[in-house]
Amino acid sequence: MAPRLAWRVAKLVESRPETDSAHTLVLEVPDWPGHLAGQHVDVRLTAEDGYSTQRSYSVAGPANGDRIELTVQRLSDGEVSPYLTDVFAPGDPIELRGPVGGWFVWRPTATEPVLLVAGGSGIVPLMAMIRARREAGSRVPFRLIYSVRTPEDVYYAAELRRGAPGLDIAYVHTRTAPEQARRPAKRIGLPDVTTHGWPPDFQPTCFVCGPTGFVETVADILVAVGHDPQRVKTERFG
Ligand SMILES: Cc1cc2nc3c(=O)[nH]c(=O)nc-3n(C[C@H](O)[C@H](O)[C@H](O)COP(=O)(O)OP(=O)(O)OC[C@H]3O[C@@H](n4cnc5c(N)ncnc54)[C@H](O)[C@@H]3O)c2cc1C
Repeated sequence: MAPRLAWRVAKLVESRPETDSAHTLVLEVPDWPGHLAGQHVDVRLTAEDGYSTQRSYSVAGPANGDRIELTVQRLSDGEVSPYLTDVFAPGDPIELRGPVGGWFVWRPTATEPVLLVAGGSGIVPLMAMIRARREAGSRVPFRLIYSVRTPEDVYYAAELRRGAPGLDIAYVHTRTAPEQARRPAKRIGLPDVTTHGWPPDFQPTCFVCGPTGFVETVADILVAVGHDPQRVKTERFG
């Protein structure tokens, strides 16, 4: 078996649109060693002239045998993400290593309540936690606060609409809110976190993921209202 952090050659099995700007990639990874919800992989692209670059992507759910899923948001001026969403085709190989990361993870044996706060593509590792909870049959109460620009930007929309027992979901819209929404479109703030999160007395584990500014804002709010900083776990997508 290859060491965990050796580069392996994975193959794209399927690429399906998640939103107008994001694709979920199903990859077949030989001898995938398994992973925890919240971990990520590194992918490496190498051009014919030898130029090589790598990026990190969270795994979006439990593995299915040797198959894992990533969801990649296209940044139109980015170097790697437009290739992964628009050019990378079924059958194509890609170098990948992982799983990486041991702090920003949720284990199905955990018993404390969980607060997930996602900004944009930051939903990916948090969805992995929601899916791992379902797969394990865990009854641990989960709350998700998911910040998106518009209702069309929600990843995994049908699956989140179906919901799960013990999973509460609140959406924060930053540019366009649905017509029936009581909350006007604006960035996440203290009232969103206190209304839809857990009181600090419940001692939840909080996972916050998204762009750096979003993560810092939410983590500061959580600590300011009394959550133990050790229980506020963050992952910044840069
Ligand atoms: C642990 C981890 C997990 C992640 N998981 C995911 C995931 O699940 N899904 C996902 O979509 N992304 C994820 N990311 C982000 C991902 O790794 C990439 O950063 C993202 O896809 C952008 O890569 P890119 O090559 O397309 O853009 P890049 O070329 O890296 O550019 C990114 C942005 O920076 C700007 N930029 C680039 N160079 C400069 C410069 N010199 N000066 C100023 N601005 C510049 C670009 O204009 C662009 O807007 C994760 C990141 C981390 C660290």
